[in-house]
Amino acid sequence: MTKPHPVIKPQPGILSIAPYVGGESAVPGANRAIKLSSNENPYGPSPRAVAAYAAAADRLAIYPDGGHARLRAAIAEVEGLEPERIICGAGSDEIISMLCQAYAGPGDEVLHTEHGFGMYRISALAAGATPVEAPEKDMRTDVDALLAACTERTRLIFVANPNNPTGTLVGADEIARLARLKPARALLVLDGAYAEYVRAPGYDAGARLARMRDDVVMTRTFSKIHGLAALRIGWAYAPDHVIDALDRIRGPFNLSTPALEAGEAAIRDLEWRETCALRNEVWRDWLAKRLAAAGMPCLPSEGNFLLAHVGAGRVERMDAFFKARGVILRKVAGYKLPEHIRITVGDEEACRLVAELAARFAREDQEGSA
Ligand SMILES: *Cc1c(COP(=O)(O)O)cnc(C)c1O
Repeated sequence: MTKPHPVIKPQPGILSIAPYVGGESAVPGANRAIKLSSNENPYGPSPRAVAAYAAAADRLAIYPDGGHARLRAAIAEVEGLEPERIICGAGSDEIISMLCQAYAGPGDEVLHTEHGFGMYRISALAAGATPVEAPEKDMRTDVDALLAACTERTRLIFVANPNNPTGTLVGADEIARLARLKPARALLVLDGAYAEYVRAPGYDAGARLARMRDDVVMTRTFSKIHGLAALRIGWAYAPDHVIDALDRIRGPFNLSTPALEAGEAAIRDLEWRETCALRNEVWRDWLAKRLAAAGMPCLPSEGNFLLAHVGAGRVERMDAFFKARGVILRKVAGYKLPEHIRITVGDEEACRLVAELAARFAREDQEGSA
């Protein structure tokens, strides 16, 4: 533990933040680990995005376009949105952080769901605000519980849909009900990090709601289906007044030129995106069946990951068993899910390996405990 300085101190609340713990990325002793801990795209980015990234190498001495004009235009064109209502951030993490900084401070509350994404809490605390957690029902976002947790101090409500780490989705009608009944002063933020994987009919990640209302924001990312997690590109679709506020606090050059150019190429490659979504659906559903057969039922997932119920006490052993064989999974006790493990849906080879290891682990673990 670092010792606090006697007089130089960060803002109140900062030292009570437990730093974000990402998925592990390496296994000591294994030279080629299969990383299934951070919901990255196993097929990587569109080859066009890689080419655009490389082509940007001859302009590194020049500041990037601080207005992100071409990337916003491309997103607007592909997603059918207005470019002036789009803002880009260094990952959607930065958008989440800017929203908290702009709308919540000491005495204010930032509401999120029980098993919600860890950055909501961290960004709320960093802004000096108080994170508040609403219970979920059967590991699904519960709109009634969110409404019950609202107070006159609620400034932001974060809902990831589908949620991470559960993978579950709530319907557009429920989300619309939340928007309608929440306190007028609270901004509703719909985090659509996994939107491109969702096949549910009528799902639009909240775009229509954000267009119609002046109190709803939709966030998206290039880190998941677009396979560009290393470049840090996220965006939000928001009402004009929110764009105006965020533009005042964001760093003027918060996205690099290689990121802007790769992002533009990636979002225009709809064929690559569809290929990845299709493969994900096929192998996710295949793997869910195999895990269930091995005694680890999974929640129905709309994302590129599965949340498997492994059972109390078995999580640590399973994690170690996989790690010893070069496969990194994600423990989610930090998300109040001590009996579950989250597994990113890899490519065919990775999924077959996970299925085989899960079956072996279940067999051997049972023999060991018999
Ligand atoms: C992965 C993820 C993000 C994306 O974060 P980036 O900063 O864009 O990489 C946002 N929200 C949720 C729920 C996620 O799982």
